[in-house]
Amino acid sequence: DVLISQIAAGEVVERPAAALKEILENSLDAGATDIQVDLEQGGIKRIRVADNGSGIARDELALALTRHATSKIASLADLEQVASLGFRGEALASIAAIARVQLGSRGTDAEHAWEVRIEGGRLSEPAPAARAAGTTIDIQDLFFNTPARRKFLKAEATEYAHCAETVRRLALANPQVAFTLSHNGRVQLRLNADSAAARVRQVMGEAFERNTIAVDAAAGALRVSGWVIRPGAATASRDSQHVFVNGRYVRDKLIVHALKEAYRDVLHHQLNPAYCLFISLPPDAVDVNVHPAKTEIRFRDSRGVHQFLFHAVERLLSAPVT
Ligand code: ADP
Ligand code: MG
Repeated sequence: DVLISQIAAGEVVERPAAALKEILENSLDAGATDIQVDLEQGGIKRIRVADNGSGIARDELALALTRHATSKIASLADLEQVASLGFRGEALASIAAIARVQLGSRGTDAEHAWEVRIEGGRLSEPAPAARAAGTTIDIQDLFFNTPARRKFLKAEATEYAHCAETVRRLALANPQVAFTLSHNGRVQLRLNADSAAARVRQVMGEAFERNTIAVDAAAGALRVSGWVIRPGAATASRDSQHVFVNGRYVRDKLIVHALKEAYRDVLHHQLNPAYCLFISLPPDAVDVNVHPAKTEIRFRDSRGVHQFLFHAVERLLSAPVT
């Protein structure tokens, strides 16, 4: 059973940033407005996330670390209309199978916090602990019992860069939430709750913000908003392409292609322009459950989405600068 858990864990958690993403999505699902991330050695040694969300009751702590224990789906039918970020109930169990985990939490009306530890599938009894309402998860020594997986990890700096990127993406999609990120004891990023525009400026930098065109277009229930870089200021910057579909960060070839084509039409050459776009459409028009890591999606009408995005952006890029 431990072995099966470890194999399954590899699907969800291929590197520290993947574990961090799952943990942060849980904090967001719990309604947190303040999230603090502390990493050590690129997250390999330690990922500690503290939030001020709704918390977990004493008797649910063990359950949270158990496979397919999700509080987010009441029936299979709900799968079609998933609104929360996590819904498979396997992230924490997967992480617990390949790391030393401490989970401490205090529900909003609990008298005090409770804490459990899990290591190698062995779960401790809940013990009383002190903390304000919310949840702290402390993941240490990721992959300590799966040396083969550990060997595939890159240098600490690379793993850290992936973790920082994960925080930035979730921060872009959730400007109403404050984030702090520390690495090896030093604060790297501090974001206060703010407007979407202010958050984009903070995360993507002044240069992007000064040179952007605001996007806001709709066709029926399909809508896109956000910012794209001015054609004149556009340079190749693959790491500054952020797309969110119904609030979820996605990596989608179709969307990248539509944007690339829009710029090519105006600039007559190829590049990977910077942008931050939020696309929304009815949940049943998109399948998010293609891959466990959930950055891949499938649109029901992919041609329609491509055309919509291409035209919405191309029109803005070719309009005279005002
Ligand atoms: P999922 O998010 O798919 O439900 P997870 O394994 O990520 O599965 O989490 C299991 C359960 O643990 C969640 O359904 C939720 O009830 C609880 N949980 C995890 N993290 C938090 C958190 N930060 N705040 C409140 N509840 C949490
Ligand atoms: Mg989750």
